[in-house]
Amino acid sequence: MNRRHFIRNTGLGALAAGSTLITSKNAFAKKRIRWKMVTTWPKNFPGLGTGANKLAKMIEQMSDRRIRVKVYGAGELVPAFEIFDAVSRGTAQMGHGASYYWKGKTEAAQFFSAVPFGLTANEMNAWLYYGGGMELWEDLYKDFGLIPTAAGNTDVQMGGWFNKEIKTVADLKGLKMRIPGLGGEVLKRAGGTPVSLPGGEIFTSLQSGAIDATEWVGPYNDLAFGFYKVAKYYYYPGWHEPGTTLECFINQDAFNALPKDLKLIVKTACKAANLDMMAEYTARNNTALQKLINDHQVKLKNFPDDVLIKLKQLSEEVVAEIADKDKKSKKIYQSYMKFRNNAMDWQKVSEQAYLNARSQTHP
Ligand code: CA
Repeated sequence: MNRRHFIRNTGLGALAAGSTLITSKNAFAKKRIRWKMVTTWPKNFPGLGTGANKLAKMIEQMSDRRIRVKVYGAGELVPAFEIFDAVSRGTAQMGHGASYYWKGKTEAAQFFSAVPFGLTANEMNAWLYYGGGMELWEDLYKDFGLIPTAAGNTDVQMGGWFNKEIKTVADLKGLKMRIPGLGGEVLKRAGGTPVSLPGGEIFTSLQSGAIDATEWVGPYNDLAFGFYKVAKYYYYPGWHEPGTTLECFINQDAFNALPKDLKLIVKTACKAANLDMMAEYTARNNTALQKLINDHQVKLKNFPDDVLIKLKQLSEEVVAEIADKDKKSKKIYQSYMKFRNNAMDWQKVSEQAYLNARSQTHP
């Protein structure tokens, strides 16, 4: 029996044709897309670095390994603050960081991470996904050959670590503090000296006295860095970062070369990572705060009202000035502020009212 005859007679024709299909599918699957993700975070750093790792893994799994993403910690492929350029020129295809690190490229980038006295984490997501924020962000990063996405949120941060008490605004004068973005500019106007340092360099700078104070994230991350060993007071609230969005930006050419389904997979994975990180921060901040107070005797301090009122006034000036930079910045500023003002009205009768009610004690 010749082969053709055998196949027809045994009904294996369909199977043979099917296996050809499977073979070609496998051949396609083997042609995997290999991407590099550079980050501003120390490799595997809790929440931020692990969030980047999780995102990479999710993209691999969701795409059935058609895209493989190798994650690089700060300094492994490029230094922390060079990831924006690295992805822009295609050295890596993805970058994981926070948009306020790129204020030197475009000041308006800061609206997409955190604004002092600005949007909370929930409000940020609302503005980005349903308030026009994402479109404005895409338009801003387009000029750099990048596609931005929200890929994490630290939730509200803490005010930072200090070795002296902040009783009045005068106590901020001459203070050399690690505080990035707009918060740093506000500190400068209050008489301090802001310093922008990647996470991995903060502890030694504070220990050596190169800086007097620092903010980083919140209890979960600050405990991991061990700041309680080199600073006495832990201040709240994080007026400068009320709900910081972390970003994952993608090289435009690399993204555009993907088939439609993989594009959707990458974007959807980022959205899932955005939600996942915020939930993780809320859960772990709760337990880390207890640990800092009970095991490490950290002294929690509330910024005095006078200090916060002054910082708020300075913040409004600093943020409004960005609007004057160029047309795009003005558009972003106006959208953000309009959203914030409406959100404030709604919050007063929703979350804020509820939280006030919940914290009332029985007589
Ligand atoms: Ca911070």
